[in-house]
Amino acid sequence: MPIETTHAIDPPPAESPGAVVERTRLIPAMLLGFVCRCPHCGEGKLFGRFLKVRPECEACGMKLDGHRADDFPPYIVIFLVGHIVGYLILTFEMGYDVPLWVSVTLWPGLTLGLAALLLQPVKGAVIGLQYATRMHGFQVPPPPRPGAEETRIGSGSAASAAESGRI
Ligand SMILES: [Zn+2]
Repeated sequence: MPIETTHAIDPPPAESPGAVVERTRLIPAMLLGFVCRCPHCGEGKLFGRFLKVRPECEACGMKLDGHRADDFPPYIVIFLVGHIVGYLILTFEMGYDVPLWVSVTLWPGLTLGLAALLLQPVKGAVIGLQYATRMHGFQVPPPPRPGAEETRIGSGSAASAAESGRI
């Protein structure tokens, strides 16, 4: 059974009556953001530099600079890394006779490495969440995906499209 990854939730834009713009669902959008891809089309890159989000997707033209991830990704990363490293420290320090120089170098290095590794994917996932839930700058209808046939509905509404099995 195929898994649906998109659904139509946006009203048709005023300049093109009858057009239905599909938006990626929440979990796929967050996963696309986690792998640093555009949450709308999955083809364009989300980041220009380390944490600098591109103004718009190079593949579909989706505006990406309207996100407001702010401090939420670091909060998530601190929560995750704190639990992972804290668990490892307790396990190793209680169970083994770890030399002091290992403790002094390993745990801070692991903490910094994990934080640097997770920050970009977690920020991408937060942007995917904001896109899928139409938060902040993602309230505008997304552009058609590159290569995708634009779904047109004749004189009916989204309900008639659902009846015909297109949504
Ligand atoms: Zn895109």
